[in-house]
Amino acid sequence: MSRIAYVNGQYVPHGSAQIHVEDRGYQFADSVYEVCLVVDGKFWDIDGHLARLRRSLSELDIEMPMPESALRIVMENVRKRNHLKSALIYMQVSRGVAPRNHLFAKGLVPSVVMTAKRFDLDQSDEKAAKGISIISQPDIRWGRTDIKTTGLLANAMAKNAAHEVGAAEALLVRDGFVTECSSSNAWIITKDGVLVTHPKDHKILGGITRATAFECAQELQLSVIERPFTLNEVFAAREVFLTSASSIVMPVVTVNGRQIGDGAPGPITIRLREAYKAKARAL
Ligand code: PMP
Repeated sequence: MSRIAYVNGQYVPHGSAQIHVEDRGYQFADSVYEVCLVVDGKFWDIDGHLARLRRSLSELDIEMPMPESALRIVMENVRKRNHLKSALIYMQVSRGVAPRNHLFAKGLVPSVVMTAKRFDLDQSDEKAAKGISIISQPDIRWGRTDIKTTGLLANAMAKNAAHEVGAAEALLVRDGFVTECSSSNAWIITKDGVLVTHPKDHKILGGITRATAFECAQELQLSVIERPFTLNEVFAAREVFLTSASSIVMPVVTVNGRQIGDGAPGPITIRLREAYKAKARAL
C-alpha cells in the first residue's frame, strides 16, 4: 500500500512529497511538530497534543496554520488515506518560505506536513513486558527544550550514541541532574514508592503522556513529586520508566549496564501502563 503525505493542502504520494528549499523549517529548524498516537481509530491525548502545538507556535510567534478543528480533520484523513487503524501521526508546522535571513519575516504562510507510520500496540506491549536498556548522555541541547521544535540534532546524537551500544534510549544529564530522555520523559520510583520526574520547566519537553501518566498515578493513589533527580538516584531506584506518545509507559531494566531493581519491569510501572491505556481509550 503506497503511503500518503499531507503537504500544504494536498494529499500526495509520500515518495514525491516536497517542501521548498527555502522553507525556514529546513534552513533554521524554525518549525515545531507533534507526534500523536492513534489506536484502533481513536486518537489518544489529542487535546493535549493540539494544546502543546498551539503553545509551541505561540512561543515562536508562528500563526496556527488552520483552526484546530481543521487540523483534527487532516490528521484523521492522513490516518484513513494510509489505511491505518493504529498509527503515529507526525505533524510539522514551519514558519513558512522566505529568502534566507535570520530575521523572522512577517506575514509568511506556515508550511504544514503530516505523515503516518504504522503502530502496533501488541508489539509495544511485548517490548514493555521485557523492558528496555538505556544509557546516560550529556544533555547538550539549547535552553528552551520546552518548545517542541524540529531542532533535534542533540537529541539525535544522544539516541545514536545509545544505539551504538545496543541501548534503546539516552537519559540526558545536565549539571548533575537527569532532565529527560532524547525522545521521552524520564521517571524513577524511589525505594519508598514515590514517583519522581523532572519539573515542567524550560529544561524538558512537557510530555503529553507525562501529564496523563501523572493523573493516572494520582488516581492509583501513588505519590508523585516533580523534582530534579541524579543518576545515583536512578541506580538506587526501585523502578525506572519513560513516557512518550510512541512508547506509552515503558519500563527501563538497565541503565549504563546496571540493573534497576531486580532487572525486570517493575509492578508499579506495569500498573501505570495499563491505567494509561485504559484512560487514553476512554478520554
Ligand atoms: N521529551 C522529548 C525530548 C520528546 O521528544 C518527547 C516525545 N516527543 C517527549 C519528551 C514525550 O512527549 P509526549 O509524551 O508528548 O510524546
